[in-house]
Amino acid sequence: MILPFEDLTSSVAKLITEANHVVILSGAGLATPSGIPDFRSAKTGLWETNDPMQVASLSAFRHRPNDFFNWLKPLAEKIYYAKPNFAHTALATLEQSGKIKAIVTQNIDCLHQKAGSKNVIEVHGSIAQLECPKCKVIIPFNDELMLNFIEEFSIPSCNHCGSNLKPSITLFEEMLPYEAWNLATHHFENADLVIVVGSSLEVSPANQLPMIAISNGAKLIINTLSTTPLDSRATLLVNYDVVAVWKSILGKFQN
Ligand code: ZN
Repeated sequence: MILPFEDLTSSVAKLITEANHVVILSGAGLATPSGIPDFRSAKTGLWETNDPMQVASLSAFRHRPNDFFNWLKPLAEKIYYAKPNFAHTALATLEQSGKIKAIVTQNIDCLHQKAGSKNVIEVHGSIAQLECPKCKVIIPFNDELMLNFIEEFSIPSCNHCGSNLKPSITLFEEMLPYEAWNLATHHFENADLVIVVGSSLEVSPANQLPMIAISNGAKLIINTLSTTPLDSRATLLVNYDVVAVWKSILGKFQN
């Protein structure tokens, strides 16, 4: 049975109210209304000729830096000018009111933080930092470095050794950041309600996180436009636009 939109969002609000430990898992579909394409998907229009596995990879960064940074440039530019959308803002508001404990995100765009969220766990890293693969130094990918890169194609390099700096995002062929993964796992172990927002749960191992919670008896809500491998395990499927959905959910708490 498919519930009407308002009934669905009322049910989500009710489940949030009843839960003690709500954890969000957000993915690319949350950022597309902010104009940021999914870099793991080839069909975004930004990179018509590129296979993301070929360019968004550690070996490309190491051995074909021009290809890698050419791939990064339009994405970095979109992210730099992007603003959080209403779904980000609604999640931040619900976090501030104590209804959401943690936001685990597969996104690298820092839009949760820009919207005011505090407890954001970035399991695929973020573009906010750069690291030197040789000296392991980490520096902020600040406005100056970013504008030099997106406007002049000046590739950021290490002040100590001159190596190209790698944005602290998880590339193909790379492991997930250990600390973020541990922290995320901890939240999913303790969750009694998991809400997936804009993730099609196709990217491993982040897509295993909801399973940790489900096997402990947590409820699962999935808010995406696509189908996911966990649809049959969900308490509620909310296959509507994330912005409309979270506007409606937030409204239920404010009335
Ligand atoms: Zn260095």
